[in-house]
Amino acid sequence: MSQNSQSEKMSFQAEVKQLLHLMIHSLYSNKEIFLRELVSNASDACDKLRFESLDNPDLLSKDSKFSIIVSYDKDKHTITISDNGIGMSREEVINNLGTIAKSGTKDFFKSLSGDKQKDAQLIGQFGVGFYSSFIIADKVKVTTLKAGLSKEFSVSWESDGLGEFIVSESNRETHGTDIELHIKEDSFDLLNGWRLREILHKYSDHISLPIYMFKEEWDDEKKTQIQTNDLEIVNKSNALWARPKSDIIESEYKEFYKVLFHDFEDPLFWTHNKIEGRSEYTQLFFIPKHAPLDIWDRDSSHGIKLYIKRVFIMDDSEQLLPRYLRFVRGIIDTSDLELNVSREILQESKDIFSIKEASIKRILGLLDDAAKNKAEDYNIFWNEFGQILKEGIGEDFANQEKIAKLLRFVSTYGEDDSQYTSLSEYVSRMDSKQEGIYYITADSLMAAKNSPHLEIFRKNNIEVLLLPDRIDEWMISHLRDFNGKPLISIAKEGFDVSKISGEVDIKNPAEISESSKSIITKIENLLKDRVKSVKVSSRLIDSPACILVEKNELSPHMVRILKAAGQNPPDSKLILEVNPDHDFFKKLSDLDDADFEQWSNLLLDQAILTSGGNLNDPVAFVRCLNSILLKT
Ligand code: ADP
Ligand code: MG
Repeated sequence: MSQNSQSEKMSFQAEVKQLLHLMIHSLYSNKEIFLRELVSNASDACDKLRFESLDNPDLLSKDSKFSIIVSYDKDKHTITISDNGIGMSREEVINNLGTIAKSGTKDFFKSLSGDKQKDAQLIGQFGVGFYSSFIIADKVKVTTLKAGLSKEFSVSWESDGLGEFIVSESNRETHGTDIELHIKEDSFDLLNGWRLREILHKYSDHISLPIYMFKEEWDDEKKTQIQTNDLEIVNKSNALWARPKSDIIESEYKEFYKVLFHDFEDPLFWTHNKIEGRSEYTQLFFIPKHAPLDIWDRDSSHGIKLYIKRVFIMDDSEQLLPRYLRFVRGIIDTSDLELNVSREILQESKDIFSIKEASIKRILGLLDDAAKNKAEDYNIFWNEFGQILKEGIGEDFANQEKIAKLLRFVSTYGEDDSQYTSLSEYVSRMDSKQEGIYYITADSLMAAKNSPHLEIFRKNNIEVLLLPDRIDEWMISHLRDFNGKPLISIAKEGFDVSKISGEVDIKNPAEISESSKSIITKIENLLKDRVKSVKVSSRLIDSPACILVEKNELSPHMVRILKAAGQNPPDSKLILEVNPDHDFFKKLSDLDDADFEQWSNLLLDQAILTSGGNLNDPVAFVRCLNSILLKT
């Protein structure tokens, strides 16, 4: 192709090439999605222009009513999707259609499953939709003019999807974009009005803009359908959420969810409500079955679509739902706001604030209902999103009680790890001796289960919640009590072990022998730089020692998490509790001074390790351990 000064040949970014290769070679059984993607881009382009023209009405050409036209040419083997949306400048064409700017692309490649159906759905989810054109086209030509620019700035982009694309001057006169697809021979079945209409119904009926196609008539001479010059609307523009609930069947909700939110699986739960009265709006919320890959990025989620009187305004989760509900997908459609609302207005809006409050209640209610009535599905939800919901305990005090009811834990009650317990269930099983709800945090479920702190609880059949997640310690620090029962860490000082131990004789520190007392004093002197005090433990049965911290200090586990997160928390003052009945302790009295010191340090080090802490000097620990081992 000739290359004048206005025409440049460029290479796709490496990742685009990889993606295109994937599209072309593995997604050919998902031909239809190109139309969904291109129509959705056209619709986005119109929404963008509508939004920008609020501040700058000159951007719109005179007769613009936003619309999308889908046409085809059987002889030239082309399908064209045209819109009169915002269009693109030359630079935007190069950036938007030559690279993948999305940080999610790497994750996209990682997440490919080899299951082509699912992979095809992922393409939409990752916003790489435009390239799906190359599943069915061997050449794509984009002609576009950016709103606000004069027609000399019109550009075209052309590519065969193999490695390069060409950008040149073009001649579009009004703002908007045409995408012309040269259909591959094996996809000629798409060059059919009936087939295209069918695909548009399937995927694009909810698009609120009119989508037009040329009317077709039977031509008696040619014995075939031919296109006339009259346009007719093909999509129903039926906003599902605006229809009465009683008219909508389950499968319609599911299909709607999958198309609008690019998911390949049915949602777990949903709730649809129309609120009338002082404030008027409709909510339709879905809880997905799986988390999208960017769910851990607290800023990236755009799960809620805001409509005003059925016109799409923006994707925005933050104004409409708190971040701890960022897994929710859905729609809010209100008639309380003006169409020309801006993000700034949204931030200030009292209406939006009250819609947000009501939406939180609605979603927590939906989850509560599911927890009660669909326990199995609720467990799926909890495994997928429980960690995120926990953020709400510390972030939304007004709803803390409701969120606390939704929490699920593994506990020592059922030894089966997949068996969850709620706080209410825990409370209903509480022993009358208990002062509160007991828990232990640790790095893993295994570490929690084997913690020496648990020994006395196990012996007395007292249930303890096992909290192995990173967020747990932070969360629990915000949850002081539940149903009036305080939450008590069993790894901190300040609760009376004797209260829970009935049948087991517990060691009364006052009654231990003088020789044991002097050993403890000796240990305390040797370790005084490392611990605050050394005490006789009444909670240990099988272990020689454990670590406690004072009630308001950070646990060794928390100190470790904070350090890993790059913070610099003060080291907590540790209390070493020892078990005088343990052979380790008994052995101490036979040792000479040098050995005694080594053994004391070892006792402390192992207690720190089993309590989830890190050793400040692991080399010294190993040296000490080896020296003791070699003497035996
Ligand atoms: P996404 O829609 O998720 O951003 P796509 O691959 O579908 O990803 O499109 C890439 C980008 O190309 C869009 O974000 C948009 O900037 C631009 N684009 C695509 N189609 C159009 C169009 N019809 N009008 C204007 N811009 C478009
Ligand atoms: Mg798109």
